[in-house]
Amino acid sequence: MRKKNLFYITYFLICLLVLFVSGCKKPVAIKETRLLMGTAVSVEIITGAPETQPEIVEKLWAEAERLEKIFSLYITESEISRINREAGRHPVSVSREMMEVLQRAEEIGRITGGAFDISIGPLMRIWGFFPEREGRIPTSLEIEKIMAQVGWRLIELDRSAETILLLKPGMEIDLGALAKGYVVDKLVKILRQEGIRRALVNAGGDIFCLGDSPGGQDWKIGMEHPRDEGDILKVFKVKNRAIATSGDYRNYFIRSNLRYSHIIDPHTGFPSNSKVVEVSVMAPDCMTADALATAMFVMGAEKGIELLNTLEEVEGIIVTEEEDKIILHCTDQLIE
Ligand code: AMP
Ligand code: MG
Repeated sequence: MRKKNLFYITYFLICLLVLFVSGCKKPVAIKETRLLMGTAVSVEIITGAPETQPEIVEKLWAEAERLEKIFSLYITESEISRINREAGRHPVSVSREMMEVLQRAEEIGRITGGAFDISIGPLMRIWGFFPEREGRIPTSLEIEKIMAQVGWRLIELDRSAETILLLKPGMEIDLGALAKGYVVDKLVKILRQEGIRRALVNAGGDIFCLGDSPGGQDWKIGMEHPRDEGDILKVFKVKNRAIATSGDYRNYFIRSNLRYSHIIDPHTGFPSNSKVVEVSVMAPDCMTADALATAMFVMGAEKGIELLNTLEEVEGIIVTEEEDKIILHCTDQLIE
């Protein structure tokens, strides 16, 4: 009888202990945001060990700042600024990170038939999107002249020497279409190394969803309505994948009732006028999703969806505005 009692007491104590431990480990969500790379970067971590979070979050911000010093055109001593200063002169040695981004840019440029082109830097300037956001319409002569300094064929990447050479003076590369996505990937890599299994990293609409959301399901990512602010056009369920969104309502100016957005068609030298107003792309990594979302603007809905359908593990929605109607074009897997 006493033995039996002892058994029950031990059993009860073990249950209490399990309850206590699992109570302590109840996951909590921690969200932090910082202004980096000219955009709000936010990190949401779901964890059972919140006490370790400040240290992890500090590591993330340190990494983001390190990468900003490589990719930012607003920092005079950044690697990208140095590359641009040497245009038409010398090959420049590049870091592993820069090489990774340049190679992906080259690949996306190739598969999009040049719709994606990081050499659009001089065009960003003459249209007034950089360095300030003071849109202006250049003359056709200005565009014609500047087009001589634009073109992915004028970028010479030497993979074995790890150098880049911009062949013509005045050339400028601009990684605004994919560097944010790359930074997101690098932050996710750190989270994984730190043993985090559930998190969301968002750099101005370039998102990676790691594991499950706080509710225990896939993360739900809303695609904003491009014209009705605050409305959601579509909700994606995302897990262990990236989703990036580009919109013509993010950085644009209007003249004579026409909207000029910051995504430039490298073939014409004009802001893209493909009727595309918003694009969301899902891919295994955020750099690819980011670059493709920008490229789809230039390619247009038909060619864009055709290309996305050929890419493995890539899905997307291209939104066009046609005679005031908003039309959604989806890749095969997203057609409902
Ligand atoms: P996103 O916000 O990711 O769509 O990227 C837009 C940014 O990409 C612009 O602000 C430019 O820095 C850059 N960009 C514009 N047009 C192109 C293009 N055709 N190919 C590559 N990058 C571009
Ligand atoms: Mg992009």
